[in-house]
Amino acid sequence: MTNAVASAGLDPITLGDLLRVAGSPGFDRWQDQIRRTGGCSDPIHLTGWTIRKDKTTGETLHRYTTADEPGGRLRVACGNRRASRCPACAWTYAGDTYHLIRAGLAGDDRRDVPATVRDHPRVFATLTAPSFGPVHNRPDRGACRCGARHAPDSPELGTALDPATYDYAGAVLFNNYAGQLWQRFSNRLRREIAARAGITQRELKECARLSYGKVAEFQKRGAVHFHAVIRIDGPDGPDAPPPSWATVDLLADAIRAAAAHSYTSVSAPAAADQPARTFRWGTQLDVRPVKAFGDGSDITEQAVASYVAKYATKAAENTGTLDRRVGELSELERHGVPGHARRLIAACKALDPLYPDRRLWAWAHMLGFRGHFSSKSRRYSTTLGALRQARADYRAAQEHAALGLDDREPDTVLVLTDWQYAGHGHTPGESALAATIARDLQLNRETAREELAALRQEGQQAHE
Ligand SMILES: [Zn+2]
Ligand SMILES: [Zn+2]
Repeated sequence: MTNAVASAGLDPITLGDLLRVAGSPGFDRWQDQIRRTGGCSDPIHLTGWTIRKDKTTGETLHRYTTADEPGGRLRVACGNRRASRCPACAWTYAGDTYHLIRAGLAGDDRRDVPATVRDHPRVFATLTAPSFGPVHNRPDRGACRCGARHAPDSPELGTALDPATYDYAGAVLFNNYAGQLWQRFSNRLRREIAARAGITQRELKECARLSYGKVAEFQKRGAVHFHAVIRIDGPDGPDAPPPSWATVDLLADAIRAAAAHSYTSVSAPAAADQPARTFRWGTQLDVRPVKAFGDGSDITEQAVASYVAKYATKAAENTGTLDRRVGELSELERHGVPGHARRLIAACKALDPLYPDRRLWAWAHMLGFRGHFSSKSRRYSTTLGALRQARADYRAAQEHAALGLDDREPDTVLVLTDWQYAGHGHTPGESALAATIARDLQLNRETAREELAALRQEGQQAHE
């Protein structure tokens, strides 16, 4: 590890601190703590103790206090989902999201989603925002409308061709109303499905259920769009077979109709100099069947889950906005926020008093969007909470085994605890070490993930 750290080219202060940390008596234990957090870059520090006693005899079975830990503290993961804040915790979150989406596509017996969901009609749909004015782009053929041929990483991409006429206000209001637009869409979708099946909405409820898992993504131009896995289940959810009329073609057709229908719209009222606006989805609508394994045009379960997980850890950062609430407009320049994002944030500020219930200024760093980044209908698959619980249970089991408490009935043990928050973060040297730990862990988990995927693929091919 020392080699890896040395090659990272550390400044003398960090290097000096790193040597101090690595040479301190509690270093092994510190490494252990940080490994448990997954290499968290901003761990929470706790002080306190836990005592486990036998309920009947009062005998102390185990005593733990942070007094014996390095610096007298226990470090736990910050749990931030944003990669710009904590890469390690974001990676854990991405992994959880991946499993969540994948369980809804392929089933997962450990998480109560039967593998038969594979036979249910399901598609991967992308619903985009409408246009708020022309932006710099990279067309398949020819040049951008400005005459230039932009490089793929050109900072101009997605920014307004003419900032004077671009509808920044419309763009942030759309983001702000996007969650409601999704709601309208999913209501309409049920109607469209029922109509195609030749039944009423009430009858639809009795024979089928619509499930989805979705994630919000910011396009370069700062408009939010949604990627969603949409699936038709039987009346009791993923365990029940869908009715025979429920096909992928029917579902895809119903999605297209629902997205284009006039019901699928939301209105922002006129206010001061702002006109009344009615928002609908953009014309770019992509609906693709999800296949277990790739065969060309269709998208695979694996690809969908990876894609969704990737976006779950990004907020609006790819537009250059801040990853936290904005205090003053003046701080944007200081943080190097690019002009397009700055104008969108300024639009939130200007509109805030006109639409007080929309809380545009509070959500200015998200360019007005205040929905959830990833969400799902109740019966799509297991919840993130369940995944975290599973991980916590696993750790508790490991600890129990280490303490030799395994052979005792849990309800014969009395647990007394007292914990206090004692700060957060790392010293510069700790920070460098934690980053190395995070990289090692990620590498190991990636290798394990790839091996598992290869095994699954082999298993499937053997079946065919
Ligand atoms: Zn963290
Ligand atoms: Zn251009």
